[in-house]
Amino acid sequence: MSVIITDSCINCDACVDECPATAIVSVDDAPVDTEYTYVKPEKCIECVDCTVPKCAYVCPSEGAIIWDMPYIEEFNDYFMYGDADGKYKIRVHKKNGVFSPLNQPRPFRETISIEQRQNKMVVEI
Ligand code: SF4
Ligand code: SF4
Repeated sequence: MSVIITDSCINCDACVDECPATAIVSVDDAPVDTEYTYVKPEKCIECVDCTVPKCAYVCPSEGAIIWDMPYIEEFNDYFMYGDADGKYKIRVHKKNGVFSPLNQPRPFRETISIEQRQNKMVVEI
């Protein structure tokens, strides 16, 4: 990731079609047990090519989208533990295996610090 959707989400699904990486799915399609719209961390590219994260731009609910850790090798254990705990459900490819940060790192915004991510900073526009 990435970004993560919180319990401030009102499930309006406005963000689903906006994501350039097709990383967001509505609650009914979420691969994990959740009551809210879900972001696939193995797909989110933090909208690095855009001025602002597109999901946050259209979101009507303050605090619904927060920063998560970068989807890079350094945080492989973090995401794999999250996968084992049911927080995430990382895609497994038949040939290539788990789309883990180790195998398939994703672009991330270097302007957002690790500390801000650890503090669950709201994605602002
Ligand atoms: S930050 Fe961008 S790529 Fe990531 S979930 Fe939001 S819209 Fe999709
Ligand atoms: S736009 Fe915001 S409130 Fe609507 S589904 Fe996405 S995260 Fe939830």
